[in-house]
Amino acid sequence: MRPSIGARSDVGRVRDGNEDSYLVQEPLFVVADGMGGHVAGDVASRLAVETIGNEVPAGTVPDLRTLESAVKEANLAIWERAQSEPALQGMGTTCTLVLVVDDEARIAHVGDSRAYLLRDGKLEQITEDHTLVARMVKEGRLSAEEADHHPQRSIVTRALGVDSEVAVDTTSVALKKGDRLLVCSDGLTSMIGTDQIREVLAGEPDPQSAADRLVDLANQAGGEDNITVVALLFDGGATGKGAAGATTTKPPADASARTDEVQPGARAGNVTGAFQTPPEGVGAERPGPARPRTRRRSRPILAMLVLLAIVLVAGALVFRYAIVESSYYVAGSRDGRIAIYRGLPEDVLGMSFREEIETSDTAVSDLPSAFREDVADAIEVDSLDEARATLQNLEQRAAEEEDEDPSKDRKRKDRS
Ligand code: CA
Repeated sequence: MRPSIGARSDVGRVRDGNEDSYLVQEPLFVVADGMGGHVAGDVASRLAVETIGNEVPAGTVPDLRTLESAVKEANLAIWERAQSEPALQGMGTTCTLVLVVDDEARIAHVGDSRAYLLRDGKLEQITEDHTLVARMVKEGRLSAEEADHHPQRSIVTRALGVDSEVAVDTTSVALKKGDRLLVCSDGLTSMIGTDQIREVLAGEPDPQSAADRLVDLANQAGGEDNITVVALLFDGGATGKGAAGATTTKPPADASARTDEVQPGARAGNVTGAFQTPPEGVGAERPGPARPRTRRRSRPILAMLVLLAIVLVAGALVFRYAIVESSYYVAGSRDGRIAIYRGLPEDVLGMSFREEIETSDTAVSDLPSAFREDVADAIEVDSLDEARATLQNLEQRAAEEEDEDPSKDRKRKDRS
């Protein structure tokens, strides 16, 4: 099925540049939402759609694995560019792509740009957000409604360009006549609810009108972020209309974006500590205390004690290597900067199991107050990659806070 296509990207009402990019290169559709400062975010999202556009040549029928490697190629391209240009360090982007092959939509996805399917009047989110709040909802710590308004809702735990490797989610949807697909950046979903999205998609027969209407609604709701939507209508026809066959990307970014305002998310990879070893007598890795055997101890009791010691040693090793060594969180360092820790934020039996492994140049005090509290509580994540993405996001929040409050900036300059 060839879809009718509608697409629109808008800067919104608050930001002064559009860091979103999209690609309409039928049958391939991509939305990318860049981050990392005015220019860097734009570079990242553009590199994502361009690389994927080149990696999925017209006339081929890529399977999910090929789409996954196309997204990984884009990740590498962004990461390498960031390594070679200091001003772009720390940039990243979300990426959600849809490829339509016959009666199937193949989807690959990283970050919090979403794909929705409207079928029989019901709207279903196909992609799973890679955000802290989505994880909290999954774990039952937050309701979906609370997540929509949570101050951490825009913190992504996975993005392209943050590391040389990235995990890509893929899925496919068997299409039916009348289906509508929407791919959008969080500038839409953070401004309007799913009920409104459903109403527009169901009510507008023309996908371009639907795309325009969604952007207008997000702007009416405040337009606090860049808004990008690609709407596809599968009406069963073999011939597309609208932008079918054409390649469209968003118009060039606002040339007035000032390069001197790029906030490179500089991150020092310095190792500042090692695991603090547990105090003597509790760390079960060392041999037990050498105590003279007493003759009264019978063999079965001795055997049980040996067994108990083995269980304790094994337990301690499992605890340390399975839990401590693979746990990460983001919190304030001793000198007040944002840092990534390996280990556990809370002490266990009075012992600490944590190591500060990367420290940002950004101070916790530079964050907006809501984020400051989160960092004070420690933001627990699943992997080092997620920790890095979280740190990068926080650095961006701090940079945005500084942009919005020039007095803060001036103070800092006066001091130096
Ligand atoms: Ca965004």
